[in-house]
Amino acid sequence: MVCRYGDDLKMMVEQVKQYTSEGKVADYIPALSVADPSKVAVAIYDGNDTCFSEGNFNEKFTLQSISKVLTLALALMDHGEKYVFSKVGMEPTGDPFNSISKLETQIPSKPLNPMINAGALAVSSLIKGSSNEEKLERLLQFVRDLSGNDQISYNKEVAQSEFETADLNRALSYFMKQHGVLTGDVDELLDFYTKQCAIEVNCEDLAKIGFALANQGKHPLQKNDIIPAEIARLVKTFMVTCGMYNASGEFAIRVGIPAKSGVSGGIVGAVPGNIGIGIYGPALDKKGNSVAGMRLLELLSSKYHLSIF
Ligand code: GLN
Repeated sequence: MVCRYGDDLKMMVEQVKQYTSEGKVADYIPALSVADPSKVAVAIYDGNDTCFSEGNFNEKFTLQSISKVLTLALALMDHGEKYVFSKVGMEPTGDPFNSISKLETQIPSKPLNPMINAGALAVSSLIKGSSNEEKLERLLQFVRDLSGNDQISYNKEVAQSEFETADLNRALSYFMKQHGVLTGDVDELLDFYTKQCAIEVNCEDLAKIGFALANQGKHPLQKNDIIPAEIARLVKTFMVTCGMYNASGEFAIRVGIPAKSGVSGGIVGAVPGNIGIGIYGPALDKKGNSVAGMRLLELLSSKYHLSIF
C-alpha cells in the first residue's frame, strides 16, 4: 500500500520528542500522575481500513476534556439546540478550563461555553437516561460507534481518583445548582462526569472519532450517520473557538485545525471533509495542552496544508 503519511509521521514524532521535557503530566487527578511524560503518539484516519500511526500509538489514555465534545453532541441530539444553549453559552472565556470567576459575573449566571468545566458539567447533567448507568452506557455506545471499537470502556481507577478529589468541580456544580443552571444531586453528576472523563481510548480510536466529526458525523464502517451533520458542524466550531482552552486563539493561528485536548495529554483533531487525527503526549504546558502534541499538529498542518483558514 502506498503510505501517504508513514515516513513523515515517523520523522515528525522524532522531531517533537525533545519538547516533552518542557511539560509536566497532570497530577491534580492523582491517577494521571503516573503517566510517562516522554510518550508521544499520533494516528491519522482517512476513512480507509487502517490508520497511519507512529510512536506509542497502542498506549491507552483517558479522554478527560475531549469527552466534552462528545457529551455536547449527545446532549444536542437528546434535546436540540434551543434547550442546550439555554443552559450554556457559546463564547470563549480566555480563562483556564476550571475557572470559576466568570460564573459570578455573567448575568444570567450560566457557563460561557461547553468546553470549560462549568459548561461541560451543565451539559453532562442533560444526558438522557433513567440512571447514571444508563447514561454512561449510552455515552459509551456513542463513543464505540464513532470509533468503530466495541471494546471501549472507562478506567475505574482514574474515575475514582478524580471523584475523590474533584472539589473544584463540585463547587462549580453547587454554584450552578443554586442559580438554576442544573438540577439534581451534585455527587450523582460528579459520578457521571468523572466516568465520562475516564473513558479510555488510544490514538487510533481518537483519529476515527475525529474523522466522523470531520465528515458530517458519518463513519465509513457504519451504515447510518452517527451525529447529524448540523451538530457535527456546531461541535467543530466550538473546537475552533474553545477546544484548546485559553490557548485556542494562538492554536487557530498556528495550526488552524478544529481540535480538543484533555489533561491526559490526548488531542482529537477534525479536518473538515478530510482526516481525523489522534494525538497522545502526556507532558502538558501550563494551560493543560500536550506540549509535543501541539508541536506535532503544527508540523502536520503546515506539511499537509490542513489549516481551515
Ligand atoms: N476531568 C478533568 C477535570 O474536570 C478534565 C479537565 C481537562 O481535561 N482539561 O478537571
